[in-house]
Amino acid sequence: MNKGLKETFYHKFGEEPKLIVQSPGRVNIIGEHTDYNDGFVLPMAIDRHIRVAFRPRDDKKIKLESIGFDSDANFSINDSTYIGDWSDYVRSISWVLKKNNFDIKGWEGVMVSNIPIGAGLSSSASLLMAILKVFSVISKFPWDGMEMAKLARQAENEFLQLKSGIMDQLICSIGRVGHALLLDCRDLSLDFVTIPPNVKIIILDTVTRRELVDSKYNERVKQCALAATYFGYNSLRDISIGHFLKNKEGLDQLLLKRARHVIYENQRTIEVSEAMKDNDVNRIGRLMSESHQSLKKDYSVSSKELNIMVQIAEKEAGCFGARMTGAGFGGCAIALIDESFKEEFMRNVFNNYFLKTGIKPMIYISSPSSGVRLC
Ligand code: ADP
Ligand code: MG
Repeated sequence: MNKGLKETFYHKFGEEPKLIVQSPGRVNIIGEHTDYNDGFVLPMAIDRHIRVAFRPRDDKKIKLESIGFDSDANFSINDSTYIGDWSDYVRSISWVLKKNNFDIKGWEGVMVSNIPIGAGLSSSASLLMAILKVFSVISKFPWDGMEMAKLARQAENEFLQLKSGIMDQLICSIGRVGHALLLDCRDLSLDFVTIPPNVKIIILDTVTRRELVDSKYNERVKQCALAATYFGYNSLRDISIGHFLKNKEGLDQLLLKRARHVIYENQRTIEVSEAMKDNDVNRIGRLMSESHQSLKKDYSVSSKELNIMVQIAEKEAGCFGARMTGAGFGGCAIALIDESFKEEFMRNVFNNYFLKTGIKPMIYISSPSSGVRLC
């Protein structure tokens, strides 16, 4: 991938690139639909990346080609127009930096990516963090991983008008090789936990994407708020399993299911991080599979294809557990497997999913990798 990038840069600018930034995609190991309930998530950065080769400009212009995309980003840093294509992600960063009084300079470059778009591996957050890093190198301002992730979220919320939490930007920003990140979405306290050796997270893209995900998502947000109010709290995060079991009787059946998912998912997420510290891969797998059942039955955000994928994966030798990941209704599942089974696992899951659905899945093997960096 780097070769295409360097060649394109050379072809365009007549010199080798001296500066290359690399920003990862991410996957959430467990802690689904917990973020907007002030709960816990456990993502890791993956070894699929966006790479940007760049050089400074003397003026205030940004010019960026993305290999495989028709249009380029081409604008002045004083221009904060939203134009309706991918360059808005670049514009949003320039906008947020100016808004926060950073003294930013112009640059030009070429970008390439092997993060699939729209699969739930957060190519969008990866792009935001890549562009922020480029600006920080060119404009020589200091880099603080948490502060930069917050700026990217502000760009996404206010310029792009997309509702998003902080998880995606933060893991793309501060991910560590070999580690997952346990993040408390309430106070942003965090803990890096080592992913046990000799296991692999396999990403299983069902290659199905669903419409109307936003409205279903907003509906879940509302249901959680209503359930929390019933229990006398602002957030489901505050409700212990004991309190839930003692007081759930009068709660509407649907809200009860939604609340049950979130309350137990928070518990599972903490337990997975503990199991990682104990190298207890069987326990991690079991909790992942429980998470999937809960997302399917209580939270109703899985899909036929995701369920088929998880079922197929779980039957394979060497698989400790599997679950859908991301908002749901389509997209990817993940499986935790014994590394020595990876070839036959990937081959069998591909064949069995294709046999059952007629769809050829995309399967990515992935290692926990580092956050955005200059390479
Ligand atoms: P994802 O689940 O991959 O984050 P999103 O819909 O949130 O999906 O973000 C995808 C969008 O991010 C694309 O439509 C595009 O605007 C932008 N994007 C991602 N990768 C690239 C890239 N390599 N070049 C240009 N734009 C990109
Ligand atoms: Mg995204």
